[in-house]
Amino acid sequence: MELGDDAVRFKIGDRVGVPWLGWTCGACSYCRNGQENLCDLAKFTGYTIDGGYAEYTVADQRFCFPIANSYGDTNAAPLMCAGLIGYRSLTKAGDAKRLGLYGFGAAAHIVAQVAKYQQREIYAFTRPGDDEAKQFALDLGAVWAGDSNELPPQQLDAAIIFAPVGALVPQALKAVGKGGKVVCGGIHMSDIPSFPYSILWEERSICSVANLTRRDGEEFMTLAPKIPVRTEVETFPLEEANEALNRLRAGKIRGAAVLVTESNSA
Ligand SMILES: [Zn+2]
Repeated sequence: MELGDDAVRFKIGDRVGVPWLGWTCGACSYCRNGQENLCDLAKFTGYTIDGGYAEYTVADQRFCFPIANSYGDTNAAPLMCAGLIGYRSLTKAGDAKRLGLYGFGAAAHIVAQVAKYQQREIYAFTRPGDDEAKQFALDLGAVWAGDSNELPPQQLDAAIIFAPVGALVPQALKAVGKGGKVVCGGIHMSDIPSFPYSILWEERSICSVANLTRRDGEEFMTLAPKIPVRTEVETFPLEEANEALNRLRAGKIRGAAVLVTESNSA
């Protein structure tokens, strides 16, 4: 392992997290307005920067986060992706007291803990019939857990959709009250079916979340060990990445799937 010539923020042996946002230009209008997550030239780890599915990688020190000692490597990993995007989604929900979470996987299991700490009420929506996911949500402090095609017992102030299912957007609009927000937390989503204007009217709104800013990361990585957020992980050796992805698609992972390399499986 080596440090670059100007790398002074960390020393060899420090444990750092390398998130999705790997580089921004610092000069475009988004970067200058505190929206570096939308930077026109942004580079992303494992996508436009090598790394992610790797044992060794090169990372820009300015975009890495220190990780609290209270987390083991595998438990810290989901904080970098599911945790950060979940946290940004939660901030988009504003100060909503009654919060719906659609899709109770890696991101939701972290967001639920942060939301509970902030004294919000969590209403968890899972794939119809997925009783295991419902129980998981209740174990993490949700006040109610039901099928995604059900309406909650109370109108919600906001809902975050983590499942990549466009049909959940009109469902969530029906679940939120006047002025309610529906936040789409995923990168991809199937097409959103058309819906009557009446379920958007009364100042309900829909927004999406893209990437993260370093500020989100600093806030969340300070907050997580304080709560403390506990991550539930299922680990797979790097060679079994495809199996991990298949299980994830099939909804068979409880919490987050984490790939481990030989150097951190010990
Ligand atoms: Zn930029």
